[in-house]
Amino acid sequence: MDVKSTKASLVLADSAPINKSRLGIHSSLLPCSQAGPTFSNNILAISSKKPGKFDDVRSNGWLDAMRSSSPPRENILKNFTSVEVASHDGDIAYRAWMIKYPSALNSFRQIMECAKNRTIVVFLDYDGTLSPIVDDPDRAFMSADMRFAVKRVAKYFPTAIISGRSRDKVYELVRLKELYYAGSHGMDIMFPAEEMASGDRSICTKSTDHQGKEVNLFQPASEFLPMINEVFRTLVEITKNIKGAKVENHKFCVSVHYRNVDENSWPIVAQLVYDVLKEYPRLRITHGRKVLEVRPVIDWDKGKAVEFLLESLGFSTNQDVLPIYIGDDRTDEDAFKVLQSGNRGYGILVSAVPKETNAFFSLRDPSEVKEFLESLVEKRMKRIVIGLEGKLPPQKPLNSNYVDSTSEERRPELLEGKLPPQKPLNSNYVDSTSEERRPELYVE
Ligand SMILES: [Mg+2]
Repeated sequence: MDVKSTKASLVLADSAPINKSRLGIHSSLLPCSQAGPTFSNNILAISSKKPGKFDDVRSNGWLDAMRSSSPPRENILKNFTSVEVASHDGDIAYRAWMIKYPSALNSFRQIMECAKNRTIVVFLDYDGTLSPIVDDPDRAFMSADMRFAVKRVAKYFPTAIISGRSRDKVYELVRLKELYYAGSHGMDIMFPAEEMASGDRSICTKSTDHQGKEVNLFQPASEFLPMINEVFRTLVEITKNIKGAKVENHKFCVSVHYRNVDENSWPIVAQLVYDVLKEYPRLRITHGRKVLEVRPVIDWDKGKAVEFLLESLGFSTNQDVLPIYIGDDRTDEDAFKVLQSGNRGYGILVSAVPKETNAFFSLRDPSEVKEFLESLVEKRMKRIVIGLEGKLPPQKPLNSNYVDSTSEERRPELLEGKLPPQKPLNSNYVDSTSEERRPELYVE
């Protein structure tokens, strides 16, 4: 296979057409075939429709987006190589894609070089990143090993979870008090009040966390709360007879899962949601992995949440900061873009199939995410030991086995200043002040 000549076709594009709906133009600007049906009438009308009559959701690209949101692996290869290929060629396609988006494990030494004398700030998505994607979203549990890895990372690096779920739900799943939490795609951010280093304090409200500690809440979509609750109740009602459909309330957004719905019924789900949203021009739809996400039309996303947290915690103006964001979903692309712009940090896409992305590196699945997080801690511990003892003989960098010596040759832009700017290498490698502040680091 000629890798270069087929590279573009190997990439999983966001295959649904980019149209007004998918760009967040609210439904009031889309063509409407009828005005304001009552929900009960609407259910009857939808139920009697035959396939082929779901013109709204076909013309606005929803069905295409739904079908492409989580396609089977073999279909991806067929669609993006222009020829039908055997399933084992998937590895070839993936390796070709990794030329553009190298494994963060294989590139670990390079990432650490860039992180020298900087504070790494870690941002993590939850579903599909820390937990596997499962049929029942209520059972998307992270493993004990993953929880331990995240806990250790949070001990050594400022760490935040940014999820589409409600903040309370993701806390319930993660159960680590060491983290910062942002739910509802970043529309519900909580962090300790005393850690707000900069930014406009008046935009936050005071509250208490699960331990009764004073926290700041930032909820830019708070005015939408009654509307979201109303839409949630309506969507639950109108989808109750669709086998496998599941509607979740994430506080400032609502998810309609169709992963377990027969594909023949997907147009019904789409049309029902579409008809409800016609009544709410201030809400919009985005497409996740076999889920329709109903969200307020506000200029806020996971990328904005990353910027907000960096600024609030005092990192945004600090050149000695390297943010790393790990996520698997389309909504994570907003965060990748923020880090990509100005070479501020690294986005890492979690994907087992080739996809177009604004990330810089890739990891295949949550198990590789865990390995990467463990490597961060291991490297950090190594620095501490060397810094404390000062007597160790020179050693090969940890994770040297991860280094893909050819990756830099394949990606000449890595050598041309596209990486986030690095501090001079003659600076002290060890952050001695953090050790003074954190005596517990001596123990391990
Ligand atoms: Mg995800």
